[in-house]
Amino acid sequence: MWIYGNHRDSWVHGAIDPSSGTSVMLEITRVLGQMVKQGLWRPRRSIIFGSWGAEEFGLIGSAEYTEQYFAKLSERTIAYINVDIAVFANATLRASGMPSVQNVIFKATKQVKAAGLDTSVYDNWIQYFNRTSPAHGIIPRVGYLTGAGSDYAAFVHYLGITSMDISYTYDRGSVSHQAIARTAGNVLIRLADSLVLPLNCSDYAESLEDYLKTAVQLYQDKLQTQKISMEPLKRAVANFRSAATHLDQVILTSDLVNETPMKTRRINDQLMLLDRAFLDPLAFPDKYAYRHVIWASSSAGRQTFPGLADAYANAELTGQPRDWDKVHYHLSVLSQAIEGAANTLVDVI
Ligand SMILES: [Zn+2]
Repeated sequence: MWIYGNHRDSWVHGAIDPSSGTSVMLEITRVLGQMVKQGLWRPRRSIIFGSWGAEEFGLIGSAEYTEQYFAKLSERTIAYINVDIAVFANATLRASGMPSVQNVIFKATKQVKAAGLDTSVYDNWIQYFNRTSPAHGIIPRVGYLTGAGSDYAAFVHYLGITSMDISYTYDRGSVSHQAIARTAGNVLIRLADSLVLPLNCSDYAESLEDYLKTAVQLYQDKLQTQKISMEPLKRAVANFRSAATHLDQVILTSDLVNETPMKTRRINDQLMLLDRAFLDPLAFPDKYAYRHVIWASSSAGRQTFPGLADAYANAELTGQPRDWDKVHYHLSVLSQAIEGAANTLVDVI
């Protein structure tokens, strides 16, 4: 199953935050509900729509939901889509999420027309936010869900569920709402219906390599003077890359429609549970409910592994040996988490 959600409380009247998102959610449920009732469609996977309370007050509704259904959600949820403020200002799509969802968002946005323009959401988006990827060239930039800005927080940081947050930034009448509803709906149907989950672990590897590169540039020299090695982390990221390449190859070369359902199930479990492998309840002893080692919030302001960045900034500030020990500790936590995640991607037997 997978989950789509937005909150329903607001600071004042809430036309934009959250009701622009709620109108999109209602429209999607109306359209999908109609298709199901008419017998035109039945999703392969269950979809849950969540209308959360008390988001502005402290993400209370969604957090309590994840606590109440902790085991079931951990074991069975493939993804969470958050559409809070569907329409801000400006003129383009804005998306954040785990690197593994980049591909499915790209596919969906290529099929949807941009609001009021004769071009796709994808082609419009790439003009506003883009980056150069070693694997794909110039592509739209998908941000990371590092903080706790909306109801995705408990899903990302507490449960380790692959998540995304999308919005459209400019309203020309109601057409942007429509573009968002179509984009979210398109992603939703892909997640609900595709035989193999449309999550890509090689794109995850690219982000880990990017974080590693920054960490090496920023920290390696100083860490060497403290006799702390970054080699285990480098090895872990390299192992993750080869495991991801291998799984991609398995998916590409398998004729899953004609193979035993067990093989598809195994691959889908690997893809679904990948983010769970990055959870470590002891990684951030000072941060309540932050367990995802890669995407936790950070105060150091560096585009790299959050716990390492924070521990390093603190050790540099105090110069205390025990704080350098904490950097060493977190490097081990990080290397083990990435190594562990890589192990989930290799063949079971
Ligand atoms: Zn909101």
